Formats: sequence, C-alpha cells, structure tokens
Amino acid sequence: TAARPAVLTVAKLPPFYLEPLKSAFEVHDRLHETDPAAFARIAPTIRGVTGGGESMVPRALMDQLPALEVVSIMGVGYDKVDVPAAIERNIPVTHTPNVLNDEVADLAIGLMLSVARRIPQSDRYVREGLWATQGNMPLARKMSGARLGIVGLGRIGQAIARRAAAFGMSIAYTGRTQRAELPYPYFASAKALAAEVDFLVCITPGGEGTRKMIDREVLEALGPRGFLVNVARGSVVDEAALIDALQRNVIAGAGLDVFEDEPRVPQALRDLPNVVLTPHMASATHETRQAMADLALDNLKAHFSGAPLLSPVPEWQARKTPG
Ligand code: NDP
Repeated sequence: TAARPAVLTVAKLPPFYLEPLKSAFEVHDRLHETDPAAFARIAPTIRGVTGGGESMVPRALMDQLPALEVVSIMGVGYDKVDVPAAIERNIPVTHTPNVLNDEVADLAIGLMLSVARRIPQSDRYVREGLWATQGNMPLARKMSGARLGIVGLGRIGQAIARRAAAFGMSIAYTGRTQRAELPYPYFASAKALAAEVDFLVCITPGGEGTRKMIDREVLEALGPRGFLVNVARGSVVDEAALIDALQRNVIAGAGLDVFEDEPRVPQALRDLPNVVLTPHMASATHETRQAMADLALDNLKAHFSGAPLLSPVPEWQARKTPG
C-alpha cells in the first residue's frame, strides 16, 4: 500500500482535529518550529500543510517545501497565508466557510448587547459588592430598535443581519460592492455608514484591502452615542485611533474580539471602562470547532484522493489556469 501523505501542521491543533489527521496522514506537528534540523530532513517529503486561521504560511515556508500540494486552513479567514505565492506554485488553499456563520454572528450580537447593556461591567458590580454599597448602576442604552451598520455583508454579515432583524433593528451596510439582491440600504464608505447608525459591526476579511478601514474619521462619524463591534480582524481597525476615541468619548463604547497584535492587548484598552474584550473566540465552541476541523480534514482527504476540493478559497477558484 502507498505511504500516507506527509502533512506539516503550522498551529497547535485541538485533539479532535489532530487525532483523525494522524489516522489519515503522516503528521509532522510544527516540526519547522520545534526542530529545524529534523524539519530540514523531512521538508522535501511534505505534501500538505494545515493550521488554524491565524497560521502563518508565508512564501518562505512554501520555498522550503518542494513537494507541497495543498494548504488547508481550519478557519474562514486566511490573511496570514500568502495565497498569490501558493497559486504561483499551483497549490490550492482551502478554508472553512459557512460552518461558523451562526457562531460568529451569535458572538457579534452578544458583544453588541454586552457593550450597550454593560453586562460584564454589571457582573463585576455585583461580584465586587458594589450593588449593596453604591446602589443601582447608571442607566445603559437600548439595543432593540436601534440602527445597525454592517461593514462587510458576506456570509457572516448576513447571519448578523438576520439576528438583528429579530431585535427590530434597522440594517444598512457597506462593502466594495452593492448587493442588489439584498434588501438593505448600501453606503459607499464606512464613514458614510457610521454617520447613520448606532452600532457599527465589522465583519470583513483582514489583509491589505481592509487595513485600518475603521480610522479616526469613521469613529468621529459614529459619534458619542455609537458603539463599535469588531469580530473581523484587528488589522481592520486603527487601534490607536480607537483607544483615543474611547478615552475622549468620541464614541460610546466598543466590543472587540480581535486585536492588532494578538494575544497582546494594549493596557490602555484594558483600562477603559466602556469596552468589552474577548480573546478571538467568536467560533470557539465544541460544536463549531468540530465542524471546522471536519471540513479542514475533508479538504485534505479530497485533495489526496483526487476528488474536488470542498471549499477552496475564492482566489484559487478565480485563478487563471495555465495554457
Ligand atoms: P465573506 O467573504 O462571505 O464576507 C466578507 C465581506 O467583506 C463581503 O461582504 C465583502 O464584500 C466584504 N469585503 C471584502 N473585502 C473588502 C474590502 N476591501 N472593503 C470592504 N469590504 C470588503 O466572509 P465571511 O463572512 O465568511 O467571513 C468574514 C471574515 O470574518 C473572515 O474573513 C474573518 O476575517 C472574520 N472572522 C472572524 C472570526 C473570529 O473569530 N472573530 C471567525 C470567523 C471569521 P465585497 O466583496 O462586496 O467587498
């Protein structure tokens, strides 16, 4: 029987992905980081690479893997993979869209409620005994019926919109293109959208196209009664401008799942009373991470059995095949 294909992991994978991966493939678990000499010996045999959404797959790594055939990312975002370098080498990149839409949309709504109603702050208030000594907390802000602006009305953005509709919210969006098939008003820029809403939720991809899209001007347009929620990537928001805006009450508050330099979160942000911070956990449930792991594994299995890939990234689907 043929040897099992060799696969390099470029992230610490959960056991429910690593174990079935090892059953199907010869797995070299982060050998490039832990043992460079051993990695140099096996590098010419590596045919697949897999990791999570934050995994680095730069051109320099692909250069060391002459037999590489496929990169499978367990995550929908793949902004740390050099996709053009992969396509030059005719290497498909796959990701895990759709299976996490509900989970990420749920957390976006959770962060909106948390920051507007100050749920974590209220929890601390009770725990610290302040209810008994200082009485009721200051009044919060209502979310139901408020105006929501979605930056990036893709798969997850639309799942957020469906939930927000159940809260009686009005919905508008921005993105590179107006989607005529969707019933929501379109704004050509994040700044124009921010000026018209109470909650601005970012759910675009990361990378160069969206870098610091949410800047000082957008935050000023959102204004002192507006809340920012970012479940996209930290790079989408100018974090220094956001901290400044929060400190000066240019906006009312922020709910953030992602940061510029994870897992480091600036002390200035952690010191602010009007923010709710979560550690990039929008898809982090047993159910959804299992579904993501299954799809990442199924993409690898499809590739090595010659079947069509289940979910290649759009750049791969749009590539110009030679000839
Ligand atoms: P989609 O590709 O379905 O949607 C992305 C949306 O962003 C589209 O509406 C797209 O619209 C818009 N967009 C893309 N590029 C730009 C740009 N340069 N400027 C403005 N808008 C842009 O992706 P998903 O909904 O599946 O996922 C979105 C992102 O959410 C992921 O890429 C990932 O970064 C993030 N995410 C974060 C998670 C977390 O744990 N916090 C978990 C899962 C995802 P158009 O093309 O018209 O511009």
